[in-house]
This record gives sequence, structure tokens and C-alpha cells, in this order.
Amino acid sequence: MNAWHKLPITEAASLLATDVEQGLSVNEAKNRLARYGQNKLRKGKRFSALVIFASQFKSLVIWVLIGAAAVSAALGETVDGIAIIAIVILNAIIGFLQEYRAEKAAAALSRLTAPHCRVVRGGHSLVVTAIEIVPGDILLLEGGDLVAADARLIQTSVLRINEAPLTGESQAVGKSTDRLPQETPLAERNNMVFLGTSVTGGSGRALVVNTGMETELGHIATLLDTAESGETPLQRQLERAGRLLLMACFGIVTLIFGLGLLRGIAPFELFLSSVSLAVAAIPEGLPAVVTIALALGVQRMVRRHALVRRLASVETLGRAQVICTDKTGTLTMGEMTARKLITSASLYRITGEGYATEGAFFSGNVESLPSESPELLALLRASVACNDAELALINNRPAVIGDPTEGALLVVAAKGGITRGVFETEMPRLATVPFDSDRKRMTVIRSRESCSWAFVKGAPEVILSRCTLIRTDQGVRELTENDRNRMIQANALMAHDALRVLAVAERPLDGFSFEEGVAVNDREIEQELTFLGLVGLQDPPRFEAKEAVVKCKRAGIKTVMITGDHPDTARAIGHELGILGKGDEVLVGAELDRLDDEALKQRVAQVSVYARVTAEHKLRIVRAWKALGAVVAMTGDGVNDAPAIKEASIGIAMGRTGTEVTKEAADMIVTDDNFASIVAAVEEGRGIYDNIAKTLAYLLGSSTGELIVMLIAVLLGWPLPLLPLHLLWINLVTDGFAALALSTDPIDPDVLSRPPRHSQSALLNRNLFKLTLFTGLLAASVTLGVFAYELYIIGNSLDHARDAAFTALVITGLLRSFGARSEQRTLWQIGLFSNLRLFLVVVVSFALQLAIHHIPMLQTLFQIEPVSLHQCVAWIGVGFIPLIVLELRKVIRRLRTKKN
Ligand code: ATP
Repeated sequence: MNAWHKLPITEAASLLATDVEQGLSVNEAKNRLARYGQNKLRKGKRFSALVIFASQFKSLVIWVLIGAAAVSAALGETVDGIAIIAIVILNAIIGFLQEYRAEKAAAALSRLTAPHCRVVRGGHSLVVTAIEIVPGDILLLEGGDLVAADARLIQTSVLRINEAPLTGESQAVGKSTDRLPQETPLAERNNMVFLGTSVTGGSGRALVVNTGMETELGHIATLLDTAESGETPLQRQLERAGRLLLMACFGIVTLIFGLGLLRGIAPFELFLSSVSLAVAAIPEGLPAVVTIALALGVQRMVRRHALVRRLASVETLGRAQVICTDKTGTLTMGEMTARKLITSASLYRITGEGYATEGAFFSGNVESLPSESPELLALLRASVACNDAELALINNRPAVIGDPTEGALLVVAAKGGITRGVFETEMPRLATVPFDSDRKRMTVIRSRESCSWAFVKGAPEVILSRCTLIRTDQGVRELTENDRNRMIQANALMAHDALRVLAVAERPLDGFSFEEGVAVNDREIEQELTFLGLVGLQDPPRFEAKEAVVKCKRAGIKTVMITGDHPDTARAIGHELGILGKGDEVLVGAELDRLDDEALKQRVAQVSVYARVTAEHKLRIVRAWKALGAVVAMTGDGVNDAPAIKEASIGIAMGRTGTEVTKEAADMIVTDDNFASIVAAVEEGRGIYDNIAKTLAYLLGSSTGELIVMLIAVLLGWPLPLLPLHLLWINLVTDGFAALALSTDPIDPDVLSRPPRHSQSALLNRNLFKLTLFTGLLAASVTLGVFAYELYIIGNSLDHARDAAFTALVITGLLRSFGARSEQRTLWQIGLFSNLRLFLVVVVSFALQLAIHHIPMLQTLFQIEPVSLHQCVAWIGVGFIPLIVLELRKVIRRLRTKKN
């Protein structure tokens, strides 16, 4: 293994056959990917069809059935044996299809959420997924990036890396490109960056030396277990419930077996029936149903711009009680237009729309030419000087590459005839202190001839407090208290109009020198500034956000806006979007600092808008809500937001503006940065939970029905109304298909009109228990009624009576599935065709039921005869009874709650 930290960069590059400027060619990168393999730690659990199929035979129930088939065959009941095996195989096929689909959905999702990074290939910088990185690639690093492979640094600019995942060192370490002795320990290899670490600040360029399992993290990957347990709380809850049900079933089945023996039922018949009943009563299909409901729901979420990174978060999402959201770009369009400029003497109104550079400056009603106003010109020039954005044409439309706030400044400067290109040549950039939400300002240092200048922009109060001078038409003079107050007032007025306001300043820097790669002492530079003016930017609220806020309110979810903007801007937007209602408070970061955790906990429920806050405040807000026991979602985009996102019950990262570190910390990524998509995800989350709950209720209702039928028959000393094959058929085929269709039911349009589910409320609750018992009793009454009528009243043969009971039970179950789609809404309200899949399943199951009556081989197997149309209609009619009663129950319950 090479000691890359020891080698000079040129030697390392030639060993890896790459060019540090141009990078690898795109073709060579492709070849190397084939040679070195994907850049990932684990080979990954590749799902193979065979493994999934084999896993269908892991359950105890299946082996009990296979055992029963063997016993049947040994006792000479070959037909029974073969039929049981056929059903076992059919069941395995259904299970396989379900799981295969779920696995494919999960795999597609993990591809979508893979981290991205920037590399240079063929002389161009491009974004690729981290798994495509190969040795010899040139990585570009900046604050918020995840380091995607082990790499030797070629260039650094105040690069700082958080190496905690690798070395445990929580302080970020500074990096350089200097060569180091061979024996330098890992933690001190400052000219290297390693997979799994992240960039906390600065920027750099690095040559990838190792990828995947060859990296330092790869070497210890076997020791680490970063993979979380794949089970979600809901799945765990179901598993626990499953064990309980298993014991209950075992008890009841044993009871039936014992009673049956006393009643003198033939032991073999009783044995097979008991085994079949046990199989029928245990909802072994549930885990698969949960997986598929989650996986398919998550796929639906992708279509609604929400990428869920952990399946468990889907359930948490559905329970969200508070959503704390950023403002800019999430609640607002994030498309800025400068509307007002204020200098020491004048207020200018600016015309023009969006990012198009046509527009004029008006002072009162008179058009002003910037070239005639030196102070306006200075303001515009500084806005361009302190700027990282670029204007471009995308699809023939003017657009901004970079921060929209800065883009808007470029646009207004262009309206005044000042472009960025001229600046770059006239005054080359020496250094930058980047914008960050905590500092709320940004500085760029540029040189002209022998002198250097600092251009600073940021939140007005932050900038004003660092200004001692002001530029006027007559030149620079001292900034008086009066000037300061005027500007603070002008700022408040613009903020009140929902404008985002930036102040711009400059400073000639005599006696400072700047070296490339050496951090600028921002405190020293950003003082004694000359105030140039204020810029008011308009960022209209998103139309969908307003609607989404209303939806949240109806759903009992509190929307909280958290922004770095001025409280007046925040208040205006908050009002416009309906977030700030009567009695709601606005809390400013500085005030929040004065509250201790306990005091914040007391206040947090009243506050709907936080202004001028930092990432640290976000963390405190999340903690305060959690201390109140709330399920809280928090959005974020910057590196600093990662702790708050991690701490939140549901951390949400912005897909477009979010850094890789934030995305890595998040449970969910919103790909279009839109608040409405977060609400859509909550809706889906609730829908998925509902689907799981209704499928569970449906399956338990069926099993209970079968148990009651058999129990009562044995108690009454009747012959068994259902044959083992009948039970298996109902459970594994007809019910199984219907359950599958239920688990992927379209979302109830009313999911967002109820309050969030309580976090402690279990899936198996008293309500479900009552419903299950009621449904079971209904289904059993119908089945036993039909059986007794055929056998004892009409005096038909036992086979015929069994057939009637069997078919009635099947039809009862199939019809009941339509009503099972909602616990509140009646079939009338839901509509018969709103889940076409379910409709088809019922039709096909019905056809299958007819088929076993009319295909001779199946007739013998199921011991049934062809049915007449008359009988068929009669059974369907009877089958409707449970559905109708259950629908009536909904109506009565609704009337009762209305009365209360
Ligand atoms: P959020 O995105 O969390 O809703 P925000 O975007 O409204 O917050 P920040 O981006 O933290 O808030 O900005 C806070 C303040 O910093 C703004 O009101 C503005 O005055 C100033 N500001 C914003 N962007 C820049 C920038 N690129 N350069 C300098 N100052 C900026």
C-alpha cells in the first residue's frame, strides 16, 4: 500500500495516471469503475430473487403445513396432501411477488438518496454520485460536502474537516498540502482527506487515491455497524402483536381440538382442521403487507418530491404535530427581485420583473440614471463586488446560478449598467469571508493597483453596527446617530412590506496584506466600514405554501416559521401565509438567547415565527418541543443545521440548497425545497399507517370469523363446517389478495382533517379489538346460519352444506373488503371504483371461487359441486349482510360523535 501522504503530488498523480488539472477522461473513469468497483463500503445486501423465494419458507406456519401434508400423505390421504402443498406453493409465490416488489422499490430509493459530490473530469467540473468515484478522480471540496473517498490534497483554502467518524476527534482539523513523513499517524495526516469525514469550512481540491473497501473507513467497516436495524417501530409492534396472536390462536385451536376429540370427531380430520385453522388464524402475511405498504408509499412520496431515507420515518411523519420550516425558498419562491434602494439621500424604486436585466430607477416619479449619482453607483458596484452568483440564460430564460439573494443584486446592478465581468478584471478578488446565517454578513476583498478594498454586505443592523462612515453625493463623511436611526427606520419600513433587506458597505484597506490560502481575520477587516445603502428584495410567498399551511391547521399540525430575516419581514410573510394568527407570537433570536431552556419550553407553544435566528437556536427550539412530548419536524439546508435536523423527530433536508452533510443527517429530503411537499409527505405518512391499520383489521376480522365458526360448531356438536382446504384457500388466496389491495389503497382525502395520532397509541388497541370481534361474529353468524339452514332445515348433504358455508364465508370476506377501506367513511362516500385494484381482486377471486366449483379436478379437491345461478345469487345476498351491518355501524358511530 502506498503512503500517499509522503509522496509529492506529481508523483502521486503519475502513479494514478491522472492529470491534476484535467482529471480523468469520462471514458477512463468508466473503465476504472469497472476495474475497481463501486465506491461503497459494504457489498450491500443484493436482493436475489432466489433468496427472497427461499425466505418464504422460513415461517413456522409453512412448516406446520408441510408437516400436515406429509402426515396426510402417510395416512393415505394423498389428495389432501397434494392440495396443501399446492396452496403452500401458491402462498409462497404471492409472498415472493410482494416482497420482490418491495425490495425493488427500496433499492430504487437508496439509489435516489445516494450522496453526490463534485469532480473534475475531462477538464470540466461535474456532479456525480459518490459510488461512481474512482482512484485518480479529482475531488472538489467545499463547506458542507461529504468526503466521498480517501484523497491526497492538491490545493486548500482554509479547508477544515470534521474527522470525528474516523478518528473520534470532535474538533474540526485544518488541512494543507505539505508532504508528511511516512510514519505520520492517521489522525495527523493533514494533507489527506478521508471517506466518511465532512468539510466544515473552506475549500479544496484533492486527488482520489482509494475508494470503497480500500479506504481507511473501509478497513474498519467490518468493525463498525453503521447499518441501522431495518425494522421500523411499526414492524416491531406488529411482530410483538403477532406473537401474542399466535399464542391466543394456539390456545383456541387446542381448545377446539380437545372439544372435538370429546365430541368424537375423527382424530385425523380434527388434526388437519386444527392445523388449517391455526394457519388461517395467524396473520402471517402481515409483515409482508407492512413492507409493501411502506415501500410503495415511499415510492408515491418520491413522486410528490419527498425522499424518505429511513422507512421508520414514514410512521413518524404521519404523527408529526409541529413542522418547523425555513422561510426563504421553502415558504417563499426563493426568487428575489430588488424593489427598493436607499442611499444617504434618496430612495429609489426599481422596475422590471424577475431576473431579466431590463428596468429603470425612479426617485419619486423621476427616472434617475445611476451614472449621474455617485452614491447609487457605489452601492451597485459594491453589490457586484461582494457576490458569488452568476447570471445565465437557462432554456432562453434569464436565471441565477448561485444564491438568489446575490443574483438579485447582480440584476439590479446590471439595470444600472454594471456587470460582473468588468469587475473581475478591474479588481481581482484576493479573499472571501463567505456568508453564513450565523454571521449574517459576507466580505470580499479585492485589489486595485496597489490598494485593496473590502466589500461587505449583510443584515442591516449587523452592518450598521460596524460602520463609522457614510457615503453621500458629496463624498464620505462620518455616520451620525441621526443617519443610523434613519437607516434603521427605512429598514423597518421595507421589512414591514415583506421585503428582505441587505445593507452594503465598503472599506479601503491600507496596511493589510493577504496571502492565498490563509484565513482572513474577519473581525479586523469588518469594522470602520463606510455605509453605502440598503437594498430591499422581494421574495413572494409560494402559492402552494398558503394552502399547505391551511391543511396543516386542519390536520392539527402547528406550522412554525424559522428565519434569519428581520422580524418585520418574517411577520409580514407569516401573516400573508396564515402562519401567524391571533395570539401567536414572534420571537427574535436575541430574545431567545435570554430565555433558559425551561422558560423556552413554557413559551414555545405560543411562538409561530422566529426571526433573526441561528442554527443553534433551531436546536434549542427542537429540544423545547421535544421536552413537551411533541413529534417535531425541522427543516434545514446549511451544515450548521445538521445538529437540529438530527435531533428532530423528523429531520428534513432541502434537496436543492441543502449540503450533503445536512442531507446525510436528515430522515427525509425534499427535492423541490417546497413546504407543500413536506405537508404532502405527512399526508402520505398518515395514509400509509391507515392502510396498514385497515389491512390488519381486515385480516384479523377474517381469522376471528373462522375461529368462531369452528369453535361454535364443535361446541354444538355439529360436523365441522369448513374443511382444512377451505380454510387455507380463504386465508392464503382470497383474503391474501384483498389484503394486498387494501395495503396499497389510495389515501383517504380526509387524512389531513383529523388530529395527529397520539405517539403512544398502539396499532392494536381496544377499538381494533372490538371491531375485530364484531366482524368475526357477523361473518361467523352468516356462515353458521347458511350451514345450519342447508344441513338441518333443507336437509341437504353435508358436502353441500359445507360448500354453502365455505362460499358464503368467501363472499362475505370479499365484499367486506370494500367497507374495510375506511373506519369512518361509508362505502357510499368512498366509492366502489376508487381502488380499482381491489375491485379487480374481488372480481378475480370471485371468478376463482366459481372456477373451483366448475373445474372437475378442483371440485374433487374441495369436495364441492357445481352451483346453480339461483344458489349463487342467494349466497351473494347473504354475503352482503356483514358489509351492510358494518356500514350501518359507521353511520351510527358518526351520528353518536356528532351528538356528543
Ligand atoms: P431561512 O432560509 O432559514 O428562511 P433566511 O434565508 O431568511 O433564512 P438567512 O439566509 O440566514 O435567512 O439570512 C439572514 C439575513 O442575512 C438576511 O435577512 C439578509 O439580510 C442577510 N443575507 C442573506 N443572504 C445574504 C448574502 N448572500 N450575503 C450577505 N447577507 C445576506
